[in-house]
Formats: sequence, C-alpha cells, structure tokens
Amino acid sequence: MDINSSNIEAIVRQVLNDMKGTQAPSSSASGGNIPSTAHVAMLTELEKFEVKEFPMPAVGDDDILVKVEGCGVCGTDAHEFKRDPFGLIPVALGHEGTGEIVKMGKNVKKDSAGKPLTLGDKVVTCMIFKDNPDITMFDLNKQNVGGADVYGLLPDDDIHLNGWFSDYLLIRGGSTVFNVSDLDLDSRILIEPCAVLIHAVERAKTTGILRFNSRVVVQGCGPIGLICIAVLRTMGIENIVAVDGEAKRLEFAKEMGADKTVNFKDHKGIEALTAAVKDAFGGYEADFAFQCTGSPVAHSNIYKFIRNGGGLCELGFFINGGDATINPHFDICSKEITTVGSWVYTLRDYATTFDFLKRAKAIGLPMEKLITHKFPLEQINEALKTNLNMEGLKIAIVNK
Ligand SMILES: [Zn+2]
Repeated sequence: MDINSSNIEAIVRQVLNDMKGTQAPSSSASGGNIPSTAHVAMLTELEKFEVKEFPMPAVGDDDILVKVEGCGVCGTDAHEFKRDPFGLIPVALGHEGTGEIVKMGKNVKKDSAGKPLTLGDKVVTCMIFKDNPDITMFDLNKQNVGGADVYGLLPDDDIHLNGWFSDYLLIRGGSTVFNVSDLDLDSRILIEPCAVLIHAVERAKTTGILRFNSRVVVQGCGPIGLICIAVLRTMGIENIVAVDGEAKRLEFAKEMGADKTVNFKDHKGIEALTAAVKDAFGGYEADFAFQCTGSPVAHSNIYKFIRNGGGLCELGFFINGGDATINPHFDICSKEITTVGSWVYTLRDYATTFDFLKRAKAIGLPMEKLITHKFPLEQINEALKTNLNMEGLKIAIVNK
C-alpha cells in the first residue's frame, strides 16, 4: 500500500514536472509587462471613432504581439472615415503603423525577408495573403499587392486587434512582417507611403526613358508628390520641376530636391502653364512626368508638358476620381508617349523602401518634416478631420 501510494505520488510529480517542462519552451516569449487589455480606435459610425477596450488576446505559436508606437493617417483612412465606401464599419483602421514586438509565438523566428526576429525588435506589416499563401516577395509575376488583405482594413472579428490605430496589434501567422529596427519612428511611419513611390519609380523605369540626366516634372506636391521627388533625388536625378497650386507645398518640394517649381495658379490656361514648365527646364519639355494628383484635369494637362518620345507614370488615381479627357492624336500617338500606371506596391518594393529611407537621410532630405501633425490615440477623430481639411501633409497617431 505504502509503496503503491508513494509510487502514484512520484508518478503525479513526474507528470506535473513533464508538463511544466514541455510548457516552458512551447509558451510564447514575452518581453515584460503586458497589460490585460488593449485599446483600439474603432470606427463605429461615419466620422466617429471610439477608443474601445478589449481583453489582450492569446498569442498563438505563429503570432506576434506588437506594442504600437505610431501609425500614419492615409487618404484611404480618410475616405473610410467620411464615407465607408468599403462597408467595413465597425472597423479598426490604420495600416501605416509600426511598433515593438512584446510577445511572440515559438514558431516565429524570421521576418518576411529572412531577417531574424526577437523581442524588442521594431516591425511593420505589409500584406496578408490569406487566399494565396504562395505569393512571396520574389514572385516576379505578381505586379502589385492589389487584392490582398491588410491590417487596418480588415473586418472586425473575435480578436479585435486588427488595425494600427491602437496600442496593441496581434500580427497573425501568415502575415508579412518586416524587422525595421534600424529605422527611427518617423521613418517607420513613412514606410508605407514611400513604398507607393518606390513602386511608381520602378514602373517608370520599365519605359527605359528615365535616366540620370532626365528632365522630370512631378505634378502634385502632397505627400505622394513630395516623396516622389525625394525618391528621384536619391536615384541621382536632379533636373526636377514640381507643379502645384500651393506656394507652401512648392517651397517644401524644393527642400525635398526639386530644382524649380511652377505654381499653376500663376498661369491662366494650359498653354501658359505649359510654357511655364518649359521655361523651368530652360526651354525644354520634360522627358518624363509623374502625375501625383487625383484630379482628372491634371491628368489631361500633363501630356502637354512631355516631349515627343517621352514617358508618363500616372499614379494619382488610387481610387476612382472620374474620367479624364485626352486627345489620343496629339497627346499619345503623334508624340509617341510611353505611359505606365502604378498602384500600391509589391513586397519587394517594401524591402527597397527601407534602403531608400536611409539613403534619403544620408543625402540630407528632410523626410521627417513630412509628418506635420502628431496626435495621441484619444484624439483620433481630430487627426482624421485634420487630414480631411487638407491641413498639413502627413498626419500621424503617436502613442506615448
Ligand atoms: Zn496608406
């Protein structure tokens, strides 16, 4: 009896020890104090975010829990805030976010580029290829990431931590995630919009027209046009003319590397405007043009700035902005213009963007000045309204 009971006791002790033993290595690694709840800005109705509190979710073997540091406000967020065109309400928005890994599942070892991941690393997310896990960043047949899911535009679910306008985000297994610990917070917030321009310039390069000594006109000096100028400068293109209707933005275009600027409000009619652009290039038309506004008239106009045999990259119409009128004979055929469209980016462009941001800094481009407003999460409604009022350039939510 005695022997049996002590045996059972020993066996139970052994089983308990084994459980502990197997549990310890299989449980997630955690980097210190994680609160029991997370705060998420939920868009609950048009033009209204509410900061909601949810229990901190369990971190699965392939998941990563990120403490959010900041997230840029995108035009897409503003559209969703104002009109809900994607029918997502209630939804947690914010896709231009970045933060620190505070907990990760045992299977998480590397990021999507093969770089090791550890607690404390700073990360960004790109796309979630739920329906097509075969797409990798080296799939050259994949032109851009259209059609994939993205944190910040996912419908709400049981986990709730789906958008970067929050203090914690759960990156689920199968998502693309990049270790960007070597970039400062402002740079990391700018990665997503910068990737749009890296992609656009890669598209432009496929025409074979964009060269070191090219005369390039960039129309539209919002964040996209300004970053376009910066990308061109980091490539060594110096002969850049920026066109916009706002003196302040044109001033900034010069800081970002534009050689000359043209304010379209100073020139009545397309002939006068074309002459002004030509003047800015010392009497020449542009070899290449980037159209960075969402205005159909701006699209119609831009052909006039381009020389015979020149090229155009149209990237201003991320969403449908209506029809534009062109004259196929004068604008395209007789001038033999090569046109490319650009939309979103590829995973490969993301990796290139990290290097671009370092290079921009190294040549003294004031990228950080693109972020003109920073709001805490509690003031997210104000942040979105600031974006809708077209005040400033890049608006960001930055957590304390
Ligand atoms: Zn965006």
